[in-house]
Amino acid sequence: MRLAGVCSSAAVVAVLAAGVLGQSSNLGYDDTPMQPNGKWHIHDSKRPQPRLVTPGVTNPNPVPAPADATVLLGERDDLSAWQMIDGSRPTWLMKNGILETGKGLLRTKAEFTDVQLHVEFATPTEVKGESQGRGNSGVFLAGKFEIQVLDSYQNPTYPDGQAAAIYGQFPPLVNASRPPGAWQTYDIVFTAPRFTPQGALEKPAAATVFHNGIVVHNATPFWGPTAHKQIDAYTPATAKGPIALQDHGNPVRYRNVWIRALNDYDKS
Ligand code: MG
Repeated sequence: MRLAGVCSSAAVVAVLAAGVLGQSSNLGYDDTPMQPNGKWHIHDSKRPQPRLVTPGVTNPNPVPAPADATVLLGERDDLSAWQMIDGSRPTWLMKNGILETGKGLLRTKAEFTDVQLHVEFATPTEVKGESQGRGNSGVFLAGKFEIQVLDSYQNPTYPDGQAAAIYGQFPPLVNASRPPGAWQTYDIVFTAPRFTPQGALEKPAAATVFHNGIVVHNATPFWGPTAHKQIDAYTPATAKGPIALQDHGNPVRYRNVWIRALNDYDKS
């Protein structure tokens, strides 16, 4: 797995002043490689901050899973679908249906390709840290493609690293974050990359993401697997992989995670 090198906090300098919500010049980087379309550096400081949108939903209760979903985190404190990245038993703690991030990366035992994934998370009620150091975790698709989890409520950071970003590649279309401690939802439709028999990339991975019911990515292709300050290259090994939850040193909570494998038309 290449996840060990994925980190979204290192060397991010402090926001100019507490409470600054607008653009700041030192939120990210200007010495990183340009993204493939030549518009922005990876984690670019100057990229526009997404517009704020207050969600219409409040998510007080878990969203029930459809009948054909595989429940990865349910009401019972059961982590039997999960293991640590090294294959050992989960060390993260689950209590009363709520899982809190622990040390090391947690992944599903099963691997997936194209999926619909529902995730509920809450960043810490007690606000600590800033920018990438506040409520940082992440949801990895096919083990390689991160949708960022962060407290992005009045917490500016580089836009391609805020909550619901395709980390290091695309900011969310809007910032639909709820306050610290509030439950939030991601509904993700992910299509895994396709490769020719010779191993050449045929079709990149792509994601549609709803954050608290608001679309923030619309069938957006990934430029490659997630990395910090770079974008990794596609390899055939990225064609399938687990769902993984990132430990970034902040106590983020998860509940009610369910998944549905997607098939082509006429093959359901
Ligand atoms: Mg993260």
